[in-house]
Amino acid sequence: MQLTNTTVLGTGVLGSQILFQTAYHGLPAIGFDISDEALHAASGRLDALVAEYASFFGDPAKAQAARESIQLTTDLAQAVKGADLVIEAVPENLEIKEQTYQKLAALAPQHTIFATNSSTLLPSDIAPFTGRPEKFLALHYANNIWKNNTGEVMGTASTSAEAYEAVVDFAERTGLVPIRVLKEQPGYVLNSLLVPFLESASHLLVNEVADAATIDTTWKLGTGAPYGPFEIYDIVGLNTAYHISSHGDETSKKFAELLKNEYIDHGKLGVATGEGFYKY
Ligand code: NAD
Repeated sequence: MQLTNTTVLGTGVLGSQILFQTAYHGLPAIGFDISDEALHAASGRLDALVAEYASFFGDPAKAQAARESIQLTTDLAQAVKGADLVIEAVPENLEIKEQTYQKLAALAPQHTIFATNSSTLLPSDIAPFTGRPEKFLALHYANNIWKNNTGEVMGTASTSAEAYEAVVDFAERTGLVPIRVLKEQPGYVLNSLLVPFLESASHLLVNEVADAATIDTTWKLGTGAPYGPFEIYDIVGLNTAYHISSHGDETSKKFAELLKNEYIDHGKLGVATGEGFYKY
């Protein structure tokens, strides 16, 4: 089964990147969002992606053509009527996901496969609302997908092998390196490694074992890795780090407090604002 016509639900940060990545690799891509305002914002994001793809791949004409091929609509029935694959990138909230899949299940053709880009919900949390659990799974992109091009493919016990392989094949044809996640795992592979690693670093800092630069230097010299944990915090963004740490144990909560008082409250959010643990 080859998946061609692709519809993306939610055209925010990730949704617009998924649309662009799919169109850039030559597949028809339609984006759906809930309001004209949301689509207007999506247009701006897609326009900005033209320059990103042009400079990364060195082919401005191809990037421009990809941008022009993307259709946007607020009409869900219209968006999904010819879809082989629907990729859902609506906000990370189970209630919104539930409502979205219930509407989608009633409108999409029988053969359409549904994939969620959810970062923290498990596909089995969502599968009951899809009306087609055998054709439902997760395809998890990383932010900045043109360069951070992993596509973590993770099904539930009900996902058919055919749907799984079709999505692995789609990932390959749209410029991703498919990561086969063989069973359900919160955080997939990448965040299962990254989150505890970053948390350990934050505990060393909060417990005053070493300062941020020393921790980073130790990790880079000791392993040959290009970035230390606090450089990664700056890339991820300190707001996101704050939200994750404030739900953790006492030491993580102290780290969240430190992030807020010393960085976030002074507009230092990491690479995006030119300063976080380091200056850029
Ligand atoms: P976002 O807030 O930037 O975008 C969400 C979009 O969904 C908005 O355009 C919003 O208008 C739209 N929306 C709201 N309700 C909707 C509905 N009922 N139907 C359709 N669209 C609706 O969020 P995001 O960062 O792009 O995240 C989207 C999903 O992708 C989440 O599940 C998130 O966990 C996942 N994700 C995010 C990242 C990231 O780095 N931001 C990385 C990987 C995965």
